[in-house]
Amino acid sequence: MPRDNVVVCPRCGSKMVYVIEIEGSNSRTIRYYYRCIVCGYKVEDLSLTVRRSSNGSVEIEALEAKKRLVYPLNIVKR
Ligand SMILES: [Zn+2]
Repeated sequence: MPRDNVVVCPRCGSKMVYVIEIEGSNSRTIRYYYRCIVCGYKVEDLSLTVRRSSNGSVEIEALEAKKRLVYPLNIVKR
């Protein structure tokens, strides 16, 4: 996967870091996104929501947000 690629902030052109964030109480959302270390601009990559349904089973919803914005415009191969 794209470990060798550098994602550049669309706002200020600085290097962005990859962030994994977990939030939620009843359902739990795991967000994967790029964040600019200079201006704080975020580019969402993937969002997973885990929830327990009424019959006790576990559901996982995956949302690939704005993937066209991330690829291929802002990835520069070294
Ligand atoms: Zn920036």
